[in-house]
Amino acid sequence: MAVKIPQMYGSLVFNDKVMRDKLPKDIYKALRKTIENHTHLELDVANSVAVAMKEWAVENGATHYTHWFQPMTGFTAEKHDSFITPVGDGQIIMDFSGKELVKGEPDASSFPSGGLRATFEARGYTAWDPTSPAFIKDGTLYIPTAFCSYSGEALDKKTPLLRSMETLEKEAVKILHLLGNTQVNGVSATIGSEQEYFLVDKKLFEQRKDLIFTGRTLLGAMPPKGQEMEDHYFGTLKPRVSAYMHELDEELWKLGIPAKTKHNEVAPAQHELAPVFDTANIAADHNQLTMEIMKKVADKHGMVCLLHEKPFEGINGSGKHNNWSLITNTGVNLLDPGRTPAENAQFLVFLMAVIKAVDEYADLMRISVATAGNDHRLGANEAPPAIVSIFLGDELTAVLQAIENDRFFDSQEKVQMETGATVLPHFFKDNTDRNRTSPFAFTGNKFEFRMPGSSLSVAGPNIILNTAVAEALRQFYKELEGTPQDQMLDAVKALVKRAVKKHKKVIFNGNGYTDEWVKEAEKRGLYNLKSTPEALPHFVDEKNIRLFTDHHIFTREEIFSRYEIWLESYSKTLRIEAKTLQSMISAQFLPTLTESMTKICASIKGKRETIAGISCGAEEKLLKDMADCYNKITDAKEKLAEDLLSAGKIQDKKEEAFYYHDVILKDMEDIRKIADKAEENIPEKLMPYPSYEKLLFSI
Ligand code: ADP
Ligand code: MG
Repeated sequence: MAVKIPQMYGSLVFNDKVMRDKLPKDIYKALRKTIENHTHLELDVANSVAVAMKEWAVENGATHYTHWFQPMTGFTAEKHDSFITPVGDGQIIMDFSGKELVKGEPDASSFPSGGLRATFEARGYTAWDPTSPAFIKDGTLYIPTAFCSYSGEALDKKTPLLRSMETLEKEAVKILHLLGNTQVNGVSATIGSEQEYFLVDKKLFEQRKDLIFTGRTLLGAMPPKGQEMEDHYFGTLKPRVSAYMHELDEELWKLGIPAKTKHNEVAPAQHELAPVFDTANIAADHNQLTMEIMKKVADKHGMVCLLHEKPFEGINGSGKHNNWSLITNTGVNLLDPGRTPAENAQFLVFLMAVIKAVDEYADLMRISVATAGNDHRLGANEAPPAIVSIFLGDELTAVLQAIENDRFFDSQEKVQMETGATVLPHFFKDNTDRNRTSPFAFTGNKFEFRMPGSSLSVAGPNIILNTAVAEALRQFYKELEGTPQDQMLDAVKALVKRAVKKHKKVIFNGNGYTDEWVKEAEKRGLYNLKSTPEALPHFVDEKNIRLFTDHHIFTREEIFSRYEIWLESYSKTLRIEAKTLQSMISAQFLPTLTESMTKICASIKGKRETIAGISCGAEEKLLKDMADCYNKITDAKEKLAEDLLSAGKIQDKKEEAFYYHDVILKDMEDIRKIADKAEENIPEKLMPYPSYEKLLFSI
């Protein structure tokens, strides 16, 4: 039976259409006003919405509701309550009130708060976010919420994202009005996040402690074939993968998630899914859901979906490209070059605001993607370097150069000059050449931030991007304020000229994977924050604290609490990895190595007993090599154990994170090098866990 996609799409979402159908007209209007203008929601409206929501949910099979939130773990959290309310005579009714809709009190004392709640209230509460629609999953009504402490500190990723969208909207509308574009009264950041992932067989996955506990392999020699043939990229989908992707699409569509593109990626067993973009808050919620559903559907198909940034050494890792733009409530993409000088002026202002933002807050952009997992990816010649730079393409770069140098711009007649009152060039949308090595690339009508790792919540990078661009727009506004309309284009040109001079150092159109770029970037004074411990401390630099507090994104306390949570999370991740490696080495790898050696000994003995004086040179050499590896691994393992003890004694969180990076990670790499070499000589059937070969090529 053919499934009717349009009917299925969004069928589990309490979306605008359902609201219009189910809510009394005045209530619907009041709710829309709250969603669009962020106005306060009256309790009688909430009550009315709650009744409609519950009825719709129960009709669609829901028995429970949950306040769904995004604590600092990077995952989502939920606690389910049923709708049932006893009415006294052994009967129940299905009940749901406005109060229950707007506010929840999960016992959330175990979520990371970076010390915030200790000093205030032990408990947090969740508050309904009406801008992201509720939905039904597994018989439960999910209500997207923000998670705060009683004194109002954000304990989650959604609250600051909403705050950043508000400040960006305010500054964008202000400057649009100043530029004479007065019809616009709303601007939203839009996000389309391309999601990469690996699929491995579940039975194989379950035999690997490292995948189970850390999401990545800590040991494993490269198979004879890796990704060198690049035959997987956009290749034909294998039937099992195709069936998986098909069901995944349907599950996402039911939840109103516009999954659009799917294909194989560069690495074997690697794939990608891209949705149609949406406003930032909804896109962030949708991406969290997408990751969850990816895992769930994989399980149904006997597979495991790996979202780690670097599941396999020597094979490309997975990223999450964050496509970002700005859209007005009149439907105009502000990063789309226009057709008239006025439109182009507007475009240039917003383009320059992004360039200025990324240049001035490159450290924050880098921090927003800094995790232990992503450290394996950035700068590994498969993903953008750790240096944040912007790719604009030759044409747009030439446009900016022309403005900077007061030259007329003319390129292959594709670009026309507007003469007359202004010297602003008139250019058309450029089919930007593709540069895959840039961390932040202009792609015609949006920017693509390529540094985020595959498992990251997109909230983090977009909080930074939104806020930094809001700040740039705020400064531009001040520069342009008071300019008469008839002089505005000239004023914009002068502003762009100043901004280009100041921020062109962040523009780089070349190959970001080369060593020359690293040197050049250093000369230009750009940050090169290679690892998470190196990057994170800049979060609390005064200029960054000022940015966040000026725009009411984070209070000083919230900034320090987040900094602490990230440092801790980094150290904890590495500690778990180190302990998993210890266990695999002690309980699996070394015993297997012993078994292999015993077999070789038996073979030598048997040969000698059969034929006296027979040469056993090859076996003896192998045995010696193996014994040598055994000793080296044992030494390295002991060093790791000692270093872990030392790590446990470090009090200062920054020092601890650096220690895990500089010492523990290095110990782990040392062990791996020896073990991966020894693995080549271990008979396949003795291996205690599946090899790379099996993991990567068995689906
Ligand atoms: P590519 O792999 O070439 O980067 P894809 O088609 O895989 O292209 O992904 C492009 C992504 O960019 C999609 O998720 C798409 O929805 C998103 N996108 C397109 N326009 C915008 C926009 N204006 N704002 C945000 N994201 C956008
Ligand atoms: Mg892309």
